[in-house]
Amino acid sequence: MSAGLAQAAYIVAALFFILSLAGLSKQTTARSGNYYGIAGMAIALIATIFGPHSQGFGMIIVAMVIGGSIGIFYARKVEMTEMPELVAILHSFVGMAAVLVGFNSYFDPPVYSGEFAHTEHVIHMVEVFLGVFIGAVTFTGSIVAFGKLRGVISSSPLNLPHKHKMNLAAVVVSTLLMIYFVKADGSTFALIVMTLIAFAFGYHLVASIGGADMPVVVSMLNSYSGWAAAAAGFMLANDLLIVTGALVGSSGAILSYIMCKAMNRSFISVIAGGFGQEISVSEDVEYGEHREVSAEDVAEMLKDSKNVIITPGYGMAVAQAQYPVQDITEKLRAKGINVRFGIHPVAGRLPGHMNVLLAEAKVPYDIVLEMDEINEDFPETDTVLVIGANDTVNPAAMEDPNSPIAGMPVLEVWNAKNVIVFKRSMNTGYAGVQNPLFFKENTAMLFGDAKESVDAIAKAI
Ligand code: NDP
Repeated sequence: MSAGLAQAAYIVAALFFILSLAGLSKQTTARSGNYYGIAGMAIALIATIFGPHSQGFGMIIVAMVIGGSIGIFYARKVEMTEMPELVAILHSFVGMAAVLVGFNSYFDPPVYSGEFAHTEHVIHMVEVFLGVFIGAVTFTGSIVAFGKLRGVISSSPLNLPHKHKMNLAAVVVSTLLMIYFVKADGSTFALIVMTLIAFAFGYHLVASIGGADMPVVVSMLNSYSGWAAAAAGFMLANDLLIVTGALVGSSGAILSYIMCKAMNRSFISVIAGGFGQEISVSEDVEYGEHREVSAEDVAEMLKDSKNVIITPGYGMAVAQAQYPVQDITEKLRAKGINVRFGIHPVAGRLPGHMNVLLAEAKVPYDIVLEMDEINEDFPETDTVLVIGANDTVNPAAMEDPNSPIAGMPVLEVWNAKNVIVFKRSMNTGYAGVQNPLFFKENTAMLFGDAKESVDAIAKAI
């Protein structure tokens, strides 16, 4: 394939990626967005494999077959609730790839000629250093995010003494090493020391962030992985990789910003490893007694209601209760009861998690509302079903300034006449804080697996 044709293919692929992002921004067009993405990636792969710079065709195919098989195996096996973990670990691969490309490009640099050869060489050295730095931070940061999401690392924030000073020192020392690296026209020692610092920095940044802020961290790491890919694109002088990396980097950054706004968090504070957040967990609070109900009681209560709102959370995903939830929705709507869903922006374990589950179960889109669209309607609601949600309906976010989730907007379910909470125990949610909602007078607990409970209600209705 000629260089011109390959370049044209790259432009077409980049356009497909932009169309893909546009499509993925709405549920109704998400499927076509995915197809655009697949088409763009297929064109990009063909142009790279058969392009003018392609070397070792056989080796690329072998690597693709091995990588592709592992990818297909895991993608088929992964549960919807494990999706964020998979995404986190995939980000770590992008980070590691940038580190390896960086080292490779340092030991085997491109040869520049002409008037600007020296300038180009210096720029290349900076690219190598920055690329390895971003890649290394992304690598360990994503591994910690994976561990936290999987529950193998505690979701509570790591609070080392002088943590912010340590972060600052890591950035300052890395910058000084970069100046030395460029001035000395390369130094393997400086590159290795910076890589080790960046590994520790990435680990510490994400470990310092508490459970409730993890959604922003995951999308931030998505953004970092994009910048790491763009840096690799600069090192390899590959325009498509630069464009794709920049698309991922900027869309991830925009998503993180939107999520920070939705959760009333400071963007800078989250990306700086919880900077400015001094949390004191208030334990030993007397919450009082909670009340329990049976599935049959809930069925009666629902039949007597005019307005019902369902607020699902991570527990609905774990229990795969979305199908019986759609079943009771249909049954109640057939009786003329107004049933709607209230979706918190960070319900579940990834942005849009609940929307995907409900769409999968064929709940009509027009009754699935965002938190802001529905929050004012709770006072006129007869019954709220909180199905496997906890942090996203916690009044402490509004009432307790010392709570780790203080300031985060929540679904104000307690303003409804009756609130039924579906969960298996009195355990806390992801942020690790107790929920005073469970002890309110108008709240009753329906203990058990959410799917079994909703099935029992469907039967009783
Ligand atoms: P939470 O994690 O706060 O609570 C989920 C609840 O579901 C738990 O209290 C659990 O209680 C219950 N549960 C678990 N399994 C079942 C089951 N089989 N049947 C019934 N109940 C079950 O979920 P929310 O959705 O309310 O909040 C999301 C949290 O996750 C927030 O803190 C958010 O910041 C964080 N997060 C969100 C991400 C995102 O992008 N959306 C990414 C990463 C983190 P019990 O054990 O008693 O059953």
